Amino acid sequence: MIWQRLSPIWQACIIQAWEAYCHNSLPHGAVIVDENGNIVAHGRNRIRELEGEGRQFARNRLAHAEINALLDLDWKAVNVYSCELYSTVEPCLMCTGAVRMAHMKEIHYACNDSGAGGTTLIDKTPFFKDGDIHLHGPHDEELLVILMALQVEATLSQRHPNPDAWINQLARDVPRGKALGYKLFENGLVVRAHEEGRDAAYVIDLIHDQLAVLA
Ligand SMILES: [Zn+2]
Repeated sequence: MIWQRLSPIWQACIIQAWEAYCHNSLPHGAVIVDENGNIVAHGRNRIRELEGEGRQFARNRLAHAEINALLDLDWKAVNVYSCELYSTVEPCLMCTGAVRMAHMKEIHYACNDSGAGGTTLIDKTPFFKDGDIHLHGPHDEELLVILMALQVEATLSQRHPNPDAWINQLARDVPRGKALGYKLFENGLVVRAHEEGRDAAYVIDLIHDQLAVLA
């Protein structure tokens, strides 16, 4: 059982990611935490959702989890400079740029993205260097594999137009996550969990069990 050992912040992130999956979008979730460790904003990938909440984006390719967390944030109620972003997946080029534009300095992520991940930008330009952004991730080796597997499974079950090429880029550095994702697609356990209305804790522990079998 891995869920119980995750912090409430990571649990909140993953709950967002599972919500995204259940709305037929890629399972990416994010939260923003203030200087006291309180969660002050939530966001999820809503690319295939028809409507967002409040100012959040939906139904377009910019509706990424991290952007939606930034849009969910009440910028007048918190000191944005001292807030920290947590994301289930390494932020992409756009989202890394958005964190820089928000003058936030700490990015935590649980799973690499060797395809669209953009965190290597942070020391590439004078503007980014001035931002002094610090990266923290991946958070946990098992969680990394589980979240990669969930993305691979979603890419297949949500009928991405070119799934194998996409997966090869995304999971290049996490072969166990790739293998587990294909297995989950074949056995249908994640789709069934969604159909049964299971929560994020159930699904993460389910995939963790499957990881043990794979090993
Ligand atoms: Zn992004």
